[in-house]
Amino acid sequence: MRIVRSSIDTVKGPQDWFTGDVFIDAVAAAPAPSRVSANLVHFMPGARTHWHRHALSQSVFVTEGVGLCQRRGGPIEVIRPGDRVLFEADEEHWHGAAPTRLMVHLAINEGDDEHAVVQWLAPVSDEEYGQAPSLTD
Ligand code: MN
Repeated sequence: MRIVRSSIDTVKGPQDWFTGDVFIDAVAAAPAPSRVSANLVHFMPGARTHWHRHALSQSVFVTEGVGLCQRRGGPIEVIRPGDRVLFEADEEHWHGAAPTRLMVHLAINEGDDEHAVVQWLAPVSDEEYGQAPSLTD
């Protein structure tokens, strides 16, 4: 057993990967041969990831607020606390907060020597993000 007290600084999501203000707390980073890592990610209203893909898939579990996610070619979906989203291996997608609500999710990733956890692509433009459905529909 190994307890890690709350001692790891929150990391600001870099602008190369995110639009807007995003804060990342490391939840789990097990040593090899485990491949799993988990992060708690806070997206401020309007903040979102860039388009990206995960070679070994990703699961996210929404814990607070109202969020949005989209896979390439699909509609923008609204996600809320308790919703779990599986992004399939190599599926191009993005996730983030709704324009007027923050969103918090736990993200569970896998990576190994041959598979980076994430491959970052282009930002989600304001025009793309503006296609989000109304939260009151
Ligand atoms: Mn993702």
